[in-house]
Amino acid sequence: MLIKKLSPLLANQIAAGEVVERPSSVVKELLENAVDAGAKRIQLDIERGGTRLIRITDDGSGISRDQLELALARHATSKIEHTDDLKAIHTLGFRGEALASISSVSKLTLSSKVASDDEQSSGWSAIAQGRDMAVEIQPRAMPTGTIVEVKDLFFNTPARQKFLRAERTEYVHIEETMKRVALASPSIAFTLKHNGKVTKRIPAASSQEQQKQRIGSIVSNSFLQQALALDTRIDNLKLWGWVSSPQHHQNSNLSQYVFVNGRAVRDKTLNHAIRQAYQDLLPTGRVPAYVLYLELDAEKVDVNVHPTKHEVRFSEARQVHDFIARAVAECLQPQNETLLASELN
Ligand code: ADP
Ligand code: MG
Repeated sequence: MLIKKLSPLLANQIAAGEVVERPSSVVKELLENAVDAGAKRIQLDIERGGTRLIRITDDGSGISRDQLELALARHATSKIEHTDDLKAIHTLGFRGEALASISSVSKLTLSSKVASDDEQSSGWSAIAQGRDMAVEIQPRAMPTGTIVEVKDLFFNTPARQKFLRAERTEYVHIEETMKRVALASPSIAFTLKHNGKVTKRIPAASSQEQQKQRIGSIVSNSFLQQALALDTRIDNLKLWGWVSSPQHHQNSNLSQYVFVNGRAVRDKTLNHAIRQAYQDLLPTGRVPAYVLYLELDAEKVDVNVHPTKHEVRFSEARQVHDFIARAVAECLQPQNETLLASELN
């Protein structure tokens, strides 16, 4: 048996298997990069459910010409440098893998321009065609910021292509992904276009009132109308957001959003705590809707658990669990009493 080292392309494609499951996974990674770059406006153009084209345009910090190729390389990141940095992650990305992975399974162009005094200076494109990882650099006229274009996703990985669903299904996943990122970043404006038509526009919110309206337009107005606002803090743990009143329940896990330090997560500890708060208040089989933001010291939450970064680990899981269970339960309390009262009558 001969042992051979994998080619960089194959190594990247294997890594891509973990993070790039479908078009919406590409969207998630690219949106997170735009957020990390400090963008104020993010535009998303999708064709054919993202299988033909995913283009993300942001007005963030941009990448300079001499860094473009490195940005596409595996394990290359501007976000962390030392082992100690892993103790407290303050950005959505940090693994330095997304662009390398995505470019290994698509035809990717990364174009960028950094802010400069010279109005005439051009931006630059790095073109990677997913075959041999060779990168070509060309000038491109564009405003400050970054444009990532991902064409023909999975064109060279037929195994993955087979798992793509109908255009509509992939589009729905993309819209849901954008909603999550938009809920996490209220001060950023988002536009989503599908096959040339604007399908979702989410303006930035600067006041509490605008933030509320935004929640209504992203989640649903019916949720917002009945939801109870929550804002609690104990020591360095803070929880705020909206939870559905016990009279309003649903049978699916739709409209359940939890953010930990600005990152959308699906976490067992948090879900369990919320479920516990609603215990005995909802009929069997019914579940609540919520948009909750948990903020705590970055050192107390490990986001380096899974490549997709959907999961987190808390160093003081019990404390976080009980804090959330109590905070949500207290928020439901007055409703709770009126419910009881109506039952007694
Ligand atoms: P990570 O986000 O984990 O650092 P990525 O592969 O997603 O890894 O991106 C690599 C690097 O490319 C980032 O660290 C960042 O410096 C740069 N980059 C990627 N996207 C953008 C963007 N939209 N704007 C500015 N810089 C970007
Ligand atoms: Mg990234």
